Amino acid sequence: MTPLSLAEIAAAVGGRPYDIPDPGALVTGPVVIDSREVRPGALFVAIAGERADGHDFAAGAVASGAVAVLATRPVGVPAIVVDDVVAALGALARAVVGRLGTTVVALTGSAGKTSTKDLMAQLLQRQGPTVWTPGSLNNEIGLPLTALKAEAGTRHLVLEMGARGIGHIRYLTEITPPHVGVVLNVGTAHLGEFGGREQIAIAKGELVEALPAAGEGGIAVLNADDPLVRAMSARTKARVVFFGEAADAHVRAEKVRLDDLGRPAFTLRTPTGCGEVTMRLYGEHHVSNALAAAAVAHELGMPAQEIADALSGAGQLSRWRMEVTERADGVTIVNDAYNANPESMRAALRALAAMGETARARGGRTWAVLGRMAELGEESLAEHDAVGRLAVRLNVGKLVAVGGREAAWLQMGAYNEGSWGEESVHVSDAQAAVDLLRSELRPGDVVLVKASRSVGLEKVAEQLLAAD
Ligand code: ATP
Ligand code: MG
Repeated sequence: MTPLSLAEIAAAVGGRPYDIPDPGALVTGPVVIDSREVRPGALFVAIAGERADGHDFAAGAVASGAVAVLATRPVGVPAIVVDDVVAALGALARAVVGRLGTTVVALTGSAGKTSTKDLMAQLLQRQGPTVWTPGSLNNEIGLPLTALKAEAGTRHLVLEMGARGIGHIRYLTEITPPHVGVVLNVGTAHLGEFGGREQIAIAKGELVEALPAAGEGGIAVLNADDPLVRAMSARTKARVVFFGEAADAHVRAEKVRLDDLGRPAFTLRTPTGCGEVTMRLYGEHHVSNALAAAAVAHELGMPAQEIADALSGAGQLSRWRMEVTERADGVTIVNDAYNANPESMRAALRALAAMGETARARGGRTWAVLGRMAELGEESLAEHDAVGRLAVRLNVGKLVAVGGREAAWLQMGAYNEGSWGEESVHVSDAQAAVDLLRSELRPGDVVLVKASRSVGLEKVAEQLLAAD
């Protein structure tokens, strides 16, 4: 991070110094909220959570080398005291990023933010030092913590922005005003909290509303294939760049195909050239993510051929998203247990289906081990039913529905669509799924594991891999 004195930090956040012997002492980073991540030169931010209160760890943080603590009350060690620590963290990030000449690229959407952000970071890194959101730290705490990692030489700051309600994205854009804003899609993630897709579109569109005008360099990168995203072009003063398979998209994928493991390949077409892309990531949904990343890289000056090469070489950066591992005995585990919503369930099932032919040629079957999709509100029953039906229509071999009533709805969908009997099983929890699979799996089988984060199905994938 950019080194800052305690006096500068206090001024940036409007805080009051307590127990600070030397206001000129320099914070050289990192800025952390977990005292276990403190290193000499750190600033420890004391956040009061539901389970633990960061203030209790303040003294320990300073003992481990933190220069001071950002807190809501004096804590007996050097502290900058503010009324609202999260707001102060945002103000600090705003002050730091505002002084740098870094290009800020922000992206949001219902599904694919992390995958796209990782792809984008791998492209932009080729042009110069790039800082990006680790994992999915996309909220009012994770975003400023990431932004504070930027320093004088940082050329690009790539930030994932998440929204659980109206006004959330606007707040994030005030911390790190973006030059480039990307909206991937408007789906049904957090539908229960938002109350409708139109509401989600309003919330996601706050990103493009925050962009500078075209004349000042603002660029809105929008998915031409998603009507609710396309319509956001009317909400921005920035120059609009469309990506997608639509004929009028500026950055387009043509001749999209999947290899027998479900990895996409396509011709990338940009306004200034073309290139062939052969991806290492699994699932057709990555075409859209790759195009979004390509559109940004193209706007920031990267030639099409170089973008195509970088996309072809790009691997997974964040865990548990379509992580494909073949065991020594020829069973393939597809760990997509990071999270699930209806769009990502469909994408993952289609990827599994694409692997089916190879599996069957090797004497194996495809298994969908699925759990609950959370936060769907009134749509929950219908959405789970639809996923169960889709598994049948895509010719998936076996469905293992894990958990409570939502799992029952998944199984019911499969039963109603295809009169599925023994092809689908309902088990109560992750351990039961592991036990069942351990006795049933045979060489050539491909097992997709996926559910919402709270279900913790990555345990199934990890135990199946450990059993190798
Ligand atoms: P979160 O809101 O949990 O941070 P995210 O938007 O960052 O999610 P990813 O972590 O990239 O999304 O992917 C989540 C899931 O969505 C994965 O299971 C992945 O297979 C699927 N997915 C990724 N990209 C797309 C896409 N463009 N359309 C539909 N599903 C997608
Ligand atoms: Mg994410």
